Amino acid sequence: MLQELPDSGKNFEYTAESAELNEVLKDTLGENNFKVHLFVERLGNIWQATGQVMSQQDFQCSRCGADLKHSVNLTAREIIMVHPEMPRSGKNAKVNHSTELDPMSPDGLILHQPELHVGEFIRELIILNEPLKPLCEKPCENPYLSSQSPSQELPDDARNPFSVLKDFKLNS
Ligand SMILES: [Zn+2]
Repeated sequence: MLQELPDSGKNFEYTAESAELNEVLKDTLGENNFKVHLFVERLGNIWQATGQVMSQQDFQCSRCGADLKHSVNLTAREIIMVHPEMPRSGKNAKVNHSTELDPMSPDGLILHQPELHVGEFIRELIILNEPLKPLCEKPCENPYLSSQSPSQELPDDARNPFSVLKDFKLNS
């Protein structure tokens, strides 16, 4: 597939309406609309994929549990190398970019066959950029949380168990 690309590269567009990627992206994007643009071009023996993903993801706030929509707006550039004889089993191997590549350079993807699975590529891109702790953008609206604001906490003295002990001794 990669070898069949024209010298000028090729644009790929996918949306929820065009539906090619709906199945593979369902577990990350749910029912949210999406727009994926991918441009793949050949650079000598390697290929470069430049991608953009726009969508939304459904998360729950890790503080208050409220449902929230997280905007997905990603751009990525990845260098694709094809090494059919690499002795690794399994699927595509990611180059460890912290050691093998300059951190400013694009990410590297090594394929065993000159075939790019666009859906998996995009899905991985979205997952890698998911927030670890999704939070409400503004202070949480959950009433339970707002009743626990620091100003309403008990003063330090009252929370100190020894203050209770002290009172007890005085009274006995
Ligand atoms: Zn929240």
